Amino acid sequence: MVSRPAPAPVDGWTPRSAQPDPSGARPPDARIEAWLSAIPDPEIPAITLADLGVIRGWTWVGDVLHVSVTPTYSGCPATAAIELAVETALRDRGVPATVERVITPPWSTDWITPEGHAKLEAYGIAPPTDGVRCPRCHAARVHEVSRFGSTPCKAQWRCDACGEPFDRFKCHR
Ligand SMILES: [Zn+2]
Repeated sequence: MVSRPAPAPVDGWTPRSAQPDPSGARPPDARIEAWLSAIPDPEIPAITLADLGVIRGWTWVGDVLHVSVTPTYSGCPATAAIELAVETALRDRGVPATVERVITPPWSTDWITPEGHAKLEAYGIAPPTDGVRCPRCHAARVHEVSRFGSTPCKAQWRCDACGEPFDRFKCHR
């Protein structure tokens, strides 16, 4: 079992012990970690699923890698896409994988890593912080145009300084 470092406490999450690999055929843990860390978010490819904090851990069950994934928003249409992305990324590397959905504790935007915040802002999306600033000119004079952005997890904002509209990742705690 290799657990990802979590920015928030993960009460109720009981890691299972990694099992020894008698055959030696499994890829090394570090390689699995590297592969998992590189999977882009299907909805916002500028950040990875690891940046989002949704990959909670993994363990081998027989020859199948079981990856624990916490959905971002319940009912979010991206959930199935996220699970498919994880399974596909591993299968493409010859690793049979299945995703186990972990809904407790629920995902929070606080789990998005600092690197994830930086990537979102560089991509033009204001990260889910309490103080919103323009991702382009970094002005704090901004206002919400609509609660509904290009996806359910984003809202539409506009910068009063440079006039640019931008998406803001909604806080979800
Ligand atoms: Zn601006």
